[in-house]
Amino acid sequence: MNNHKFIIKKRFGQNFLNNENILKKIVSISNLKNKNIIEIGPGKGALTKHIIAQEPKSLFLIEKDKSLKSYLENLNHKKELQLKIIFDDVLKVNLSEITPNKKSIIIGNLPYNISTTLIVNLLTIMSDFELMIFMVQSEVADRLCAKVSSKEYGRISVLSQLFCKIEKIFDVSPENFFPKPKVNSTLIRIYPIKKDSFKYEDIDYLLKKAFCFRRKKIRNNLLRYLPKIECFELEKKFDLDKRPQDFSPQEYLKIYRNLFLN
Ligand code: SAM
Repeated sequence: MNNHKFIIKKRFGQNFLNNENILKKIVSISNLKNKNIIEIGPGKGALTKHIIAQEPKSLFLIEKDKSLKSYLENLNHKKELQLKIIFDDVLKVNLSEITPNKKSIIIGNLPYNISTTLIVNLLTIMSDFELMIFMVQSEVADRLCAKVSSKEYGRISVLSQLFCKIEKIFDVSPENFFPKPKVNSTLIRIYPIKKDSFKYEDIDYLLKKAFCFRRKKIRNNLLRYLPKIECFELEKKFDLDKRPQDFSPQEYLKIYRNLFLN
């Protein structure tokens, strides 16, 4: 029983999901039985209860708000379940070290304010995990999954599609949360893919330059940081009259190889 009065903190992105059918659906999209699970932002444990019902082998909860302690420490579970609560900022936790040598599944109804940063931070360690299931702002899901030449396609789309396969599973409207957020949410599933060899920092740098002005031809953006001679060489292999959003992730990889691996 929890008697203390909990005060919702907007700064922690606390929009609690309160539709039991949706919570059930989230844990049913992948098999969690006997798996090692990491849940980000368990809040009062609404999703956590459904994860526990799937009988995972271990469950690690990472929650920043210590005032949720009494909710999380009183969750019912079988003795066999290895359950650990970590009160910390997930952006400061080394998630690869939570279950070393064992691939875990990461799940979370993410606080909107950190979702893009968290997913971008996870890209380079993606292969340490089996998969990820996240509830994010629909706009973030659109950017992650965006197709080349679409309005949403940008640096984050290219980066994430070079490291993983991302699927939109279903949308969730604001009425299913308390307090109601101003935006729609989307559940996404992320699978790591076998990554081509490239240095994250270099490709990220290239993308930051390439996308600095979306309406300009990529040539103009690249010329702001590349010597003319390098642009001239690229020109022989790529159509630099195109805009940055008209190059696929694989084409960016080819440009990167031309610039950094020659
Ligand atoms: N899982 C619960 C649910 O579905 O109702 C709560 C989800 S709520 C959108 C996000 C949760 O993440 C909150 O409990 C919040 O306190 C927590 N949180 C916010 N920022 C965090 C951070 N940097 N690290 C870990 N947890 C965080």
